Amino acid sequence: MRIGIVGGSLGGLFAAALLHADGHDVHVYERTEGGLAGRGAGLVAQHEIFEVLRRLGTESVARVGVVAYERVVLAVDGSIASTEPTPQMQVSWDGLYGALLAHVPAHGYHAGLTVAGVEQSATQAFIHLADGQRIGFDCVIGADGLGSVVRSVVTPTQRDNHYAGYVAWRGLLPEAEVPPVASSSLFERFAFFFMPGGQALGYLVPGPNGEIAPGRRRYNWVWYRQAAGVAGLRQTLTDAEGRIHPYSLARGEVPAVERDALRLAAREALPPAFRAVVEAEPDPFVQAIFDHEGTRMASGRIALLGDAAFVVRPHTAMGAAKAAGDAMTLVGALRRLPVREALVAYEAERLPVGRRIAAYGRQLGESLQPA
Ligand SMILES: Cc1cc2nc3c(=O)[nH]c(=O)nc-3n(C[C@H](O)[C@H](O)[C@H](O)COP(=O)(O)OP(=O)(O)OC[C@H]3O[C@@H](n4cnc5c(N)ncnc54)[C@H](O)[C@@H]3O)c2cc1C
Repeated sequence: MRIGIVGGSLGGLFAAALLHADGHDVHVYERTEGGLAGRGAGLVAQHEIFEVLRRLGTESVARVGVVAYERVVLAVDGSIASTEPTPQMQVSWDGLYGALLAHVPAHGYHAGLTVAGVEQSATQAFIHLADGQRIGFDCVIGADGLGSVVRSVVTPTQRDNHYAGYVAWRGLLPEAEVPPVASSSLFERFAFFFMPGGQALGYLVPGPNGEIAPGRRRYNWVWYRQAAGVAGLRQTLTDAEGRIHPYSLARGEVPAVERDALRLAAREALPPAFRAVVEAEPDPFVQAIFDHEGTRMASGRIALLGDAAFVVRPHTAMGAAKAAGDAMTLVGALRRLPVREALVAYEAERLPVGRRIAAYGRQLGESLQPA
């Protein structure tokens, strides 16, 4: 079959690589010029990710990562309040992205093309590109994330995401730039600090090219903070030029005054180690936390997958694994059944899974939401 995929991040690539391996003619449309290499940090590799890689014959990619040997909770004075020996491995987002991309033929990954919309007839599904082209497929998959345009066909009355009332401030420092006060208590661990309405956490991830040798890794920190209501969200997502962004501000877009306010708040609220990494980050970035729970994952010949179908809280560390699970189920159904029936079977199996993970994430994030 000829299959079109909207969105060429991890969700789109899980599906594309598996479909190509099954002999389908796959075309991925990714709006980002030049693809997404170099954009990601680390990722907790859950079992679904190993499974996709195993099916593609590249399981080794998920075995190369940085291991945090224990989970620790810091007290505000920097002492260790609790320790749990829970080893966890962070694999390289870029390594995973690159491994999946290598399983999609170059002529099937169209970077720099934005999809304006999708539609379908009884016999075909169509992708409309922003440049005016209309391209027909046997099946179209929306792996276009939180701002999905494909939702407008599958769940037309449920396109929006619900803001959870808090945001994730983030930083990613080369290991060598982490101050000693932080490296001595944070490295080789998955560290947390809990405060009323907030949470800081951090862990080492591979270097920009997948390096895992000490000295060449990066430290990834996240500080969840409330930014209540529409006004709080708009203020947080206003860039240095005064433009309001819908979901996040990338590196370089946060105004200097907001960065300085974040540093000041860190000095007042965080333990010395987390304070030091927030202060050392020259260019913090921020992602608002949203929920989205659609009641449908497919309609006719068009399916939703990954964040386009369900946006779950990052505390689950399951966003990518959920997308991998969606992709495996969808590809398995397309192997057994004609397209429309396959999509019905896919939805029946994955809707309850998405709902379960979404509910779990809301529970984990409850204490972070404004009252
Ligand atoms: C703070 C934070 C931390 C996280 N940590 C983890 C973690 O540790 N582990 C984990 O598993 N998950 C994590 N996640 C979740 C993870 O990022 C996603 O859930 C996962 O990558 C699945 O993404 P996706 O491919 O479905 O969507 P996205 O990654 O959102 O990709 C959508 C793609 O579609 C493209 N696109 C969108 N619209 C169009 C269009 N109209 N035309 C063409 N292209 C388009 C976009 O450019 C993008 O590349 C985290 C999320 C957050 C916010």
